[in-house]
Amino acid sequence: MSAVGAVSSCSSLRSCLWLLKPGMQKMSSFGLHTAARCAARDYYEVLVLGGGAGGIAMSARMKRKVGARNVAVVEPSKTHYYQPLWTLVGGGVKQLAASARPMESVIPAGVEWIKSRVIALDPDKNCVWLENDVKVSYKYLIIALGISLHYEKIKGLPEGFNHPKIGSNYSAQTVEKTWRALQDFKEGNAIFTFPNTPVKCAGAPQKIMYLSDAYLRKTGKRPKANIMFNTSLGVIFAVKKYADALLEVVKDRDLAVNYKRNLIEVRADKQEAVFENLDKPGVTEVHQYEMLHVTPPMGPPAVLINSPVSDENGWVDVDKETLQHKKYPNVFAIGDCTNLPTSKTAAAVAAQSGVLDKTISLVMKNELPVKKYDGYTSCPLVTGYNKVILAEFDYNAQPLETFPIDQSKERTTMYHMKADMMPLLYWNALLKGYWGGPAPVRKLLHLGLK
Ligand SMILES: Cc1cc2nc3c(=O)[nH]c(=O)nc-3n(C[C@H](O)[C@H](O)[C@H](O)COP(=O)(O)OP(=O)(O)OC[C@H]3O[C@@H](n4cnc5c(N)ncnc54)[C@H](O)[C@@H]3O)c2cc1C
Repeated sequence: MSAVGAVSSCSSLRSCLWLLKPGMQKMSSFGLHTAARCAARDYYEVLVLGGGAGGIAMSARMKRKVGARNVAVVEPSKTHYYQPLWTLVGGGVKQLAASARPMESVIPAGVEWIKSRVIALDPDKNCVWLENDVKVSYKYLIIALGISLHYEKIKGLPEGFNHPKIGSNYSAQTVEKTWRALQDFKEGNAIFTFPNTPVKCAGAPQKIMYLSDAYLRKTGKRPKANIMFNTSLGVIFAVKKYADALLEVVKDRDLAVNYKRNLIEVRADKQEAVFENLDKPGVTEVHQYEMLHVTPPMGPPAVLINSPVSDENGWVDVDKETLQHKKYPNVFAIGDCTNLPTSKTAAAVAAQSGVLDKTISLVMKNELPVKKYDGYTSCPLVTGYNKVILAEFDYNAQPLETFPIDQSKERTTMYHMKADMMPLLYWNALLKGYWGGPAPVRKLLHLGLK
């Protein structure tokens, strides 16, 4: 696209300013192809796709780097949710409203909020397509589109949620139904599922089981409950140290774990859940339930499937240490939508945001990124109303713990950290671009012990 052509398509002076900036159309020394443009209505130096945990954290950081007026976030939702709180909402500890804030309150002041949905990406032209045929171009792109939920891949859902006795902590629409189903519990099976796909927060499907067990004990109904965790996986947790601790918990509390069981159908009118046995193709099991908690199948957002920025599975294809795109050096990604081989959590987003900030700073100066992400992720495994096992680990599924104590033990202090401290850290530090994960705290605490 020629500059003249681009000018004729500019809708405002501001959207054309990039054409006037000296050097803006030059290739960088190591092949940033930031010169290509489409006939876009608007141009931003940094364009962020998605206003979730990763998108807002990076917008705040980019605002400090290039100024608010040069950054825009594309996000269709009016509400931003702190999703990790939903475990406690489903367990009746917190209200859904406590996890929600208006999107406009979390978008950094002065940063443009484009209230739309991305429908296609054209990284060869540094351009994205939004709804209503609107195009926006950029110099640097940060993709933070999260992971998509697919309740519809289970026969009988999502319409089954109109019935009682069934809930799901994974969505704002269904999380309160979990708490209702738990309170309604009288007698029978309480079933908790884990799908046969990647998920966000792989601990959440079982955290709600431990809370339900605790609730049923508190209310005297536990002797009448048969609690089971039907998981598609072959292990209870990916990291041995925490898996061993969790196996002790399930034994101690008389919880049944059935491996390689994948939920394929819910007959909500009859309170029946149908599972396939992944070890025996064609064999299914039907369980009557008194309470069912569904963790839905998940996958990459539709816009990323078959996109030039994605790998063959639909996840954004980034370098696992720098978070820079493998083919397009002016494109970056963070969080659940990436193919980073670590567990998808907000804690991982925090650590990634610190690294990505450094990566982009260097790329903007035409230097090679050096800071390396080690895969840090964390999962506070809530095992009761005042207990948490704090799992923290890296790309190699090796523990990478912040505190100089045995974190595989159930602790009340860690519960308060999860329930009371983490939300504060999320709203006031991560989303403001000041929390890059606990690595400095870890260093300090561990050095202090030497
Ligand atoms: C029940 C539950 C419990 C959890 N517990 C924990 C926990 O204890 N600890 C922890 O660290 N993490 C936990 N998580 C995971 C954590 O919430 C996510 O990993 C984190 O939010 C990922 O951030 P993200 O920015 O990648 O995606 P998100 O925060 O999901 O944001 C993605 C954004 O992209 C937007 N978007 C999607 N498609 C488009 C489009 N086409 N165009 C524009 N915008 C689009 C969405 O509207 C959304 O705002 C939990 C999650 C759940 C559901």
